[in-house]
Amino acid sequence: CGKWARAMALVKEFEEKCATPEAKLKQVADAMTVEMHAGLASEGGSKLKMLITFVDHLPTGDEDGVFYALDLGGTNFRVLQLQLGGRGGVVNQKFTEVSIPPALMRGTSDELFDYIAEKLANFAAEEEQMFHQPPGKQRELGFTFSFPVMQTSINSGTLIRWTKGFAIHDAVGQDVVAELTKALKRRGVEMRVAALVNDTIGTLAGGRYTNKDVYLGVILGTGTNAAYVERAQAIPKWHGSLPKSGEMVINMEWGNFRSSHLPITEYDHALDVGSVNPGEQIFEKLTSGMYLGEVLRRVLLRMAAEASFFGVEVPPKLKVPFVLSTPDMSAMHQDTSSDLREVDNKLKTVLEISNTSLKTRRVVVELCNIVATRGARLAAAGILGILKKMGRDTPQEGDGKTAIAVDGGLYEHYTEYRKCLENTLGQLLGDKTASSIVFEHSRDGSGIGAALLAASNSL
Ligand code: ADP
Ligand code: MG
Repeated sequence: CGKWARAMALVKEFEEKCATPEAKLKQVADAMTVEMHAGLASEGGSKLKMLITFVDHLPTGDEDGVFYALDLGGTNFRVLQLQLGGRGGVVNQKFTEVSIPPALMRGTSDELFDYIAEKLANFAAEEEQMFHQPPGKQRELGFTFSFPVMQTSINSGTLIRWTKGFAIHDAVGQDVVAELTKALKRRGVEMRVAALVNDTIGTLAGGRYTNKDVYLGVILGTGTNAAYVERAQAIPKWHGSLPKSGEMVINMEWGNFRSSHLPITEYDHALDVGSVNPGEQIFEKLTSGMYLGEVLRRVLLRMAAEASFFGVEVPPKLKVPFVLSTPDMSAMHQDTSSDLREVDNKLKTVLEISNTSLKTRRVVVELCNIVATRGARLAAAGILGILKKMGRDTPQEGDGKTAIAVDGGLYEHYTEYRKCLENTLGQLLGDKTASSIVFEHSRDGSGIGAALLAASNSL
C-alpha cells in the first residue's frame, strides 16, 4: 500500500544521502590530510587542533621496574600497577576501578584530587606489601586524563574545560598534574607524575610497546580521536628545540574534523543542532558510539510519523532522544536468527513496539547497516588521510609494516563496524599496500600506555 511505499522511499533517500563510494572516501581522506597540514602550520589554523603532546619517544620494550597509572576520563577511574621486566615484558599487572561519587564531579578540585589520592595510596600500599617493593624508592606515575588540556610539558598541562558531566570550576585553568601532586603530598604519598597523556596517546604508546610497527592510535568508543607519530621538523607551529628522536606524537582531536565531502543528512543536521555542542565534533557525530543509535532513532521516528511504519500511532518511546543506544543498535544489526528475534526483542524492550512483521524488522536491520557502514567507512577514510600524511599509504622499500592500535567499546564490540572499517581501508589502499597494514586491538592500552610512558620519562 501507499504507506509502505512511502517508508521505502524514505529508506532509499537516506541510503543515497549516506552513500560513501570510494571516490568520496578518497576526497574525505585528502581533506583530512589538508587539515592536518593546516593544524600543524599554526595554532587555530584548522578545525583539527593537532595538539603537540610532548611525547617525543614511545616505549621501546626495554622498560624495567614498577610503574603506576591513573586513568581518569569518565564516571570511573582506574588505578594500575605494572611490573616490567625489561625484554621479558609485563611481569605483573594489577588494577582497580573506582567510581567517582557524582557530588565530587561538581565539587572542588581539592575534593576530587584528595579522593583520587586516597584510593591511589590504598592501592599502592596493598600492592607493595605483596611485591616487597624497596621502601623509599621514588614511585613514578603516568596520568591519563581524557579531557581537553593545553599541554605545557610531558608532565604538565592546563585544563581547558571539563566534558562528560564534570563541572569543577576551580580546576579550569589549573595544571592538573600540580593539582594531583599537591593532593598526593597532602596524603603523604611519595609519587611523581612523570607523564600526562590522554586515552588516545596511551593507546598509541601501549600498542607500540607490544608492536614496534605501531605509528597510529585510534579511539572508537563513546567518542573518537586519533594520534600519530609526526616528524618534528614537519610541525611549523613548534618553536621549541627539536627532540633528539626527531619525532613528536600529535593528538589530532579528529572528532572535530569536518568537510563539505562528508555525507551529512537532515537527520545528522537535526542531531547536531539539538546537541550540547552544535557545529562541533561533526566527524564524531557521524562515526562514534555516542551517536550511531541516535541517528537510527531519528530515521525511524520520521518513518513512523510520515509513513506509519510502526502502525497508525507514533510509538511514544521513539520520541525520546538517545533512548536507542549503539549497543542496542549493534545487537539488532548482528541478529542472525531467521525470524530476527533480537530485533523484535529490542524493539519491544527499548522502544515498546510490539507485533512488528518480519518485513518491518528486516528494514530496521537495513537501516542499522546504513548508519554503521557510513560511520565505519568514514573512520577508514580518516585513517587513510593520516597514512597519506605520514607517507605510508604507498609501500616503500624498507618501510616495513604499519600497525594501527585501536581501542574503545565500539571497535571492540561492534563486529560489523570493525570488519567494515578494516575492509574499507584495505580496499582504499589496494591489495599491495593493504597487506602491510595491521590493526591491533590495544585493550586497556590507555592505562598501560600511561604507565609505560611514565617508565620512559622516569628520572
Ligand atoms: P569510553 O569511550 O567512554 O572511554 P569505551 O571505550 O568503553 O568507553 O566505549 C564505550 C562505548 O562503546 C559506548 O558508549 C558504546 O557507544 C560503545 N559500545 C559498547 N558496547 C557496544 C556494543 N556491544 N556494540 C556497539 N557499541 C558498543
Ligand atoms: Mg575510554
